[in-house]
Amino acid sequence: MVGYNTGHLSSGVIEVVCGPMFSGKTEELIRRVRRSQIARQKTQIFKPSIDDRYHKTNVVSHSSLSIEAMPVKRSMDILGHLYDSTRVVAIDEVQFFDEFIIPVIRKLARRGIRVICAGLDQDFKGHSFGPMPELLCMADRVDKIQAICTVCGAAASKTYRKNLEESEAQILVGESDLYEARCSAHWDSHEQDQDLLAFTLSLESKAKVEEATHKEGQL
Ligand code: ADP
Ligand code: MG
Repeated sequence: MVGYNTGHLSSGVIEVVCGPMFSGKTEELIRRVRRSQIARQKTQIFKPSIDDRYHKTNVVSHSSLSIEAMPVKRSMDILGHLYDSTRVVAIDEVQFFDEFIIPVIRKLARRGIRVICAGLDQDFKGHSFGPMPELLCMADRVDKIQAICTVCGAAASKTYRKNLEESEAQILVGESDLYEARCSAHWDSHEQDQDLLAFTLSLESKAKVEEATHKEGQL
């Protein structure tokens, strides 16, 4: 086929595993990494240095599975640490990276590398987390997995922050001391209440404006 560019056939794939805390994202990332290592594909694992909950240089799951990783401060550092022979790159806690993680991942995939990312799709307020929306959008494969609701045992898609008094900042690195997995029914976040209040107020003010306009029309 004249002019048909087959170069794209060798490009890598972007896989994203997302979900709330305790849903097994890190376990799944480690499982995929182990399989690529069994297949003797050169694999590098990165994590943001901000996440030192369990270990400074290892990716560790809540169930204590562990694999050695390279902690990096900025997304660009991933490119700096990359070996020519690397076929698979795994990135845990990808939501903590700066916005340049998107072009970095794109560049890796263009080099033919399989990129496996794990990260929180939502923060404790239910808002999208950092670069996740764009990453989920450009991914070739997305697995959204669930945890178990700590209140009722149902499937949980939300992360609940226990100590709101401590901080309302989006990033507060913590463990089960700070967070729980919850189903939507038991995820009663502060923000949800705020949203509902704002929505009710906007409905009320809209009704008032409509009433005033109606009265004006009658005059
Ligand atoms: P993530 O990376 O998504 O935060 P991990 O892979 O580190 O999750 O840990 C998953 C493990 O966490 C489970 O296999 C289980 O042993 C443990 N765990 C603790 N609390 C829960 C929960 N509420 N729901 C599911 N798994 C939980
Ligand atoms: Mg994890």
